[in-house]
Amino acid sequence: MTDKDKYQPTPKARAFLDSVENGKYKREIITGLTKFAEGKVPEDMQTLYTPGQLKALTDLRGTERDVEARMPVKITRHYFELAKNSEPLQTLVKARPMETDDLAGAPDPGKQMDYSPVEGLIHKYELGLIYVALTCSAHCRFCYREELIAKKDVVRPDGTVAPKGLAQIGDIVAYVEQHNQAVAKNGGRHPRSGREKLREILMSGGDPMVLANKNIAAWWSALADAGIDSIRIGTKELAFYPDRFDDTFFDMLDKFHAAYPGTRLRFMVHFNHPDEFLSKDEQGRYIDDPQGGLVWVAATKRAMQRLGAREWLTIDNQAPIIKGINDDADALRTMQRELRRNRVENHYFFCGRDIVGHKAFNVPIERAWQILNESQKGLSGVEAHARLSITHYKGKTEVAAVTNESLAGLPGTENGFVVLKLLRSSADAPERGKVTIVGRNPDAIWFSGYDDRVIYDEAGLYAGVDQAQSTQPAIARAM
Ligand code: SF4
Repeated sequence: MTDKDKYQPTPKARAFLDSVENGKYKREIITGLTKFAEGKVPEDMQTLYTPGQLKALTDLRGTERDVEARMPVKITRHYFELAKNSEPLQTLVKARPMETDDLAGAPDPGKQMDYSPVEGLIHKYELGLIYVALTCSAHCRFCYREELIAKKDVVRPDGTVAPKGLAQIGDIVAYVEQHNQAVAKNGGRHPRSGREKLREILMSGGDPMVLANKNIAAWWSALADAGIDSIRIGTKELAFYPDRFDDTFFDMLDKFHAAYPGTRLRFMVHFNHPDEFLSKDEQGRYIDDPQGGLVWVAATKRAMQRLGAREWLTIDNQAPIIKGINDDADALRTMQRELRRNRVENHYFFCGRDIVGHKAFNVPIERAWQILNESQKGLSGVEAHARLSITHYKGKTEVAAVTNESLAGLPGTENGFVVLKLLRSSADAPERGKVTIVGRNPDAIWFSGYDDRVIYDEAGLYAGVDQAQSTQPAIARAM
């Protein structure tokens, strides 16, 4: 049975879908290094790589260090125009041989596949994540969805090996309805998983905004009819191709809101660096706007103003802190301030993951915390809402504090300590707020960097770790 056989839109959804128009877009995308190597890109875009850089990259083809086997190269004309005047943006989008110098890391450090009851769905919290697109308008070199985008095989919990597939509307609607019925019958918690009602779905991928309006509308109406309260759209399209937010899109958005006023839309946008949305003068400096703030890139400003004018939707930014791109407190300060001025909440910054082929991009956890903390020193309270998050198997965890001082009398804290706070647990909401304290390790890029220095573990982040490995005194570990 195909997905279409299983899912039929309701009459209300059908009426909405019949009114949606698809737009026409000129992203002018260049995909693959071959086009650069063979000179088949517009002359100005050819300057993105020198001949020497292209040779070094193409020499790696077919070897273990093939950079495009890890992540295909892809860039839009819009992003090229921004990147040609920005080193950080070039680092974000340009392939480099060093990306594959060190391929160590886990294929799935957050063990996401353990939480995938249906193809294309990760259901870890009261929020479900669905993969609805296999690509984005351009590709970030640091992407940790590279297994999806590069269509790599992943090992499932049952031992089978296959590339990750996309979510299908019929499967997801059936799962949401069954899950929520079981929760309702069982007094608010699922009888097997213990999870609460599935209220919120994050559409991700890849980028949902590469889909046509009619496809996005089909997902939104199906999810709303299945009882989902909030739909999140994870997108970097405002950086890669802001003209995607055109009249046809806003027409669809408004019609959806008219048909489903109770379903909230939350745009989870992804800006890494202010160069992705701010204009620069000839000296490369941001330009003061006489009306306040800084001058934005016109297309991005237009899209943001139109999104922001709809008070019934929310816009939040979240981004990883990546080496050579935004491990820069001044850039992050400017970004947080300008986004907040323009109706965008600063939601999360993320630590990198200990994922295969990610070493070239990782900023150590403690350094990332210091950079974010430094960036927020110049911000007002409402501008500085973002927290630094790292995703543990057990749940989303905040890096809440990193100290330089020891705690008098407490062994293991001689070089300072790190406080980790559980924000969301996959199984149990009451776990929220519990903390773990570890002795500092400035080189740590993942939880495992602290395996041998756990001081206090109320949150249970190290419950499965062999404590015999620990160099800390048992009394300190047990505190
Ligand atoms: S926008 Fe997100 S999913 Fe797309 S390539 Fe960048 S990090 Fe990956």
